Amino acid sequence: MAAGSVTKLQIKTPAASPSKSESRPVFPFVAIVGQDEMKLALLLAAVDGALGGVLAFGDRGTGKSTAIRALAALLPRMTAVAGCPYACSPEAGPHTCVEGCMARNRTGEPRTISVPVPVVDLPLGATEDRVVGALDLERALTQGVKAFQPGLLAAANRGFLYIDEVNLLEDHLVDLLLDVAASGENVIERDGLSIRHPARFVLVGTGNPEEGELRPQLLDRFGLSVEVKTPTDLDIRIEVVRRRDEFERDPVRFTARWQKDEAKVRRRILSARDRLNTVTVPDAVLRQSAELCLALGVDGLRGELTLMRAARALAALDGEQSVSTIQLRRVAPSALRHRLRRNPLDEAGSSVRIDRALSEMFGP
Ligand SMILES: [Zn+2]
Repeated sequence: MAAGSVTKLQIKTPAASPSKSESRPVFPFVAIVGQDEMKLALLLAAVDGALGGVLAFGDRGTGKSTAIRALAALLPRMTAVAGCPYACSPEAGPHTCVEGCMARNRTGEPRTISVPVPVVDLPLGATEDRVVGALDLERALTQGVKAFQPGLLAAANRGFLYIDEVNLLEDHLVDLLLDVAASGENVIERDGLSIRHPARFVLVGTGNPEEGELRPQLLDRFGLSVEVKTPTDLDIRIEVVRRRDEFERDPVRFTARWQKDEAKVRRRILSARDRLNTVTVPDAVLRQSAELCLALGVDGLRGELTLMRAARALAALDGEQSVSTIQLRRVAPSALRHRLRRNPLDEAGSSVRIDRALSEMFGP
């Protein structure tokens, strides 16, 4: 980009007021009862951001939104370049963000601030302008200034983008979100704007399959998918209600009680991130993964790749140096469930088919 256009173009920075999530305690991640598959999928996505996001399908009121907020609150605060609308990391270098960091920190070391990991909600009625950002029309008209109003993708950088009822969102928006999530960059070329900014986030979509399904092409692009059910076990239900009630009556005391366990999970995530690149995947495990995908008739290689990555992230969380059948088996349902072709001769659901294939390969 020419230097001239940088000075002409201005970018609105969000007001530096503390966000709602900072002023109000968040239900602790470790205090969530049950929902093990969803919690594991979110942990894996927190360890390997390139896994491709998480899709959580199931009943209403099962704490899907609570879980994602809880995980974000558990993660350590991020160091960000002050004034950058994308909350860039100072270590990322200014080259990643020409309009944000460089325009504000022309000389020397950038000033930094500490911010919580963002969880940005994408409402169903959101326009494309609101999502990707747009020309700030008001300033263009009143001040004649060409200013960029960053959108939700900018706000979600380095955090989570949460879409409730993703199956009701327009296909072209879902497509766009998946594109940006995969590339880590939002590119805007319209209204006379030419902007690209970092947008690395974990996409978390939830939905109720009874209200509509995602196209298979979109499904396949989500990394992991989980099924969330209202617990039917009496004791679990009682414990869910008890903890929720305790939290609502005295959130400060409740969160304090879980602090130690939260710190343990935080350390696990951080050391897993450090270890991730050194965890190896033995040939035997790759072979098993390929066999499993073949047996299930998974289209393409994306499923296999995700299966391997998820198993590696789990091995890193488990403190292992290499992936074994144990991890492969545990992540297979989340990595493959949404990629199975419908089999007219087999009416069983995806989860049942995967369980069956796993038992046939590895024993009960
Ligand atoms: Zn920046």
